Amino acid sequence: MLVFLPAFLFFSKQKTDYDTIIRHAVVYDGSGSEPYKADIGIIADTIAFIGDLERGSAKNEIDGEGLALTPGFIDTHSHHAGELFQHRDFLAAVSQGVTTIIIGQDGESNFPLRTFFQRLSDTPAAVNIGSYSGHNTIRDSVLGKNFKRFATQGEIDKMKLMLGQDMEAGAFGLSTGLEYDPGIYSNADEVLQLAKEVAPYGGRYISHIRSEDRYFWKAIDEIIHIGKVAKIPVQISHIKLAMHNLWGRSDSLLMVLDNARKNGINITSDIYPYAFWHSTIRVLFPDRNFSDEKEAEMILQEITRPEDIILSSYEIQPEYEGKSLAAIAGMENKTSARMLTELIARIENFEKENKRPCDEGILATSMNEEDIKRLMRWPQANICSDGSSSGGHPRGYGAFTKVLGHYARDEKIFSLKEAIHKMTGLPAEHMGIKKRGLIKKGYFADLVLLDPSTVIDRATISEPHKISDGIEIVWVNGKQVFKNRATTGRYPGNVIKRQ
Ligand SMILES: [Zn+2]
Repeated sequence: MLVFLPAFLFFSKQKTDYDTIIRHAVVYDGSGSEPYKADIGIIADTIAFIGDLERGSAKNEIDGEGLALTPGFIDTHSHHAGELFQHRDFLAAVSQGVTTIIIGQDGESNFPLRTFFQRLSDTPAAVNIGSYSGHNTIRDSVLGKNFKRFATQGEIDKMKLMLGQDMEAGAFGLSTGLEYDPGIYSNADEVLQLAKEVAPYGGRYISHIRSEDRYFWKAIDEIIHIGKVAKIPVQISHIKLAMHNLWGRSDSLLMVLDNARKNGINITSDIYPYAFWHSTIRVLFPDRNFSDEKEAEMILQEITRPEDIILSSYEIQPEYEGKSLAAIAGMENKTSARMLTELIARIENFEKENKRPCDEGILATSMNEEDIKRLMRWPQANICSDGSSSGGHPRGYGAFTKVLGHYARDEKIFSLKEAIHKMTGLPAEHMGIKKRGLIKKGYFADLVLLDPSTVIDRATISEPHKISDGIEIVWVNGKQVFKNRATTGRYPGNVIKRQ
């Protein structure tokens, strides 16, 4: 006997009510493989279905026709969480498609992480946040003002205890900023001992290496050595060749890194897509000989030219902000080298008198476009911003969209699917993050709907907080956090602990 069952039984599975369905978008799944057209069904914070949802229904239905759907971008070197609790909507990050940020970079972190993570889960943000434990932070609390020296074994042991606490709390591993105080005064043994400390936890090492210019090759050797001896994954932060006589050496650098990988060392890097950096003016003097005019001359020959240094902040003489060193030297009728040493002397005096750090920073062009492209194309380089929400460098708002629009679409240095992989699946792998970074059933619904034909950064040095074009909707854990060029006032971000 033929029984006609009611149609709803056949379609019951597809009748599931989803919270969100995104229809007809071209799915770039983050693995780097070919994109395909599909509908995506989201239930709560999870990707519940990928395929044909013609008969499915949802509270929120989005038509993605003509658009690309990608996993949310993972920023492995972010400073966006400064004053996090005052701007939990993270406009700078989500407006460029970033849904997860990894903080605690350059050796600076919130200590203890347990307390920070608790506060963050009580008062969540729009994005997911994970953190490393910072060497500079820990070293500062152990050594205090007397930091211009090697640490004693007793002090290193104290640092290990603090690092262990952070690892217990869920830190990804150890981060260092070896061009900055106080980490610059550490020796290789101190750093190596601390790196070894995170190994039993399955931790990692991420580093603003000891030098990005004068002592570059030694700094590369140091991080490779740490990976080899501590037997943990190591990542070079914002990889760059920041000195004129290093320009064009990116091939040699990649050979060194690939060789290390062949020898079993898990070394990777992140990179931001700009030829100029943003930092303290004092980073130019690794030997801290700020008044040495000969050194200043060398810096202005080899590292960055007087017209290529722009003061982004200088609270002592705010009228100098936005001006180049060359222009300021002209105004004061001094040589550029002399001017550089004087600007720093004024900062040092200010800090002595006021007993607090001076607000100062420079944007300096030290890199070469061909090296940036070659390093960005390295299969082990994921994209990062190194940006902040309030900073003067446009990377805070435009790093990811610049890679998508400028480097992938316009310059074609790699395909869109590769670019997206470098922002999603690859950084998830490099950070050891599970269930994010791919569009896959059962994964968290961190998603970006974007227009590949219009996506582009708009932030510039003069307007560093201008938001990008082409990012249509951004979801974090299934909730929309960005739409119609604005944040939505939702805070679905999770604390991401080492997994
Ligand atoms: Zn850095």
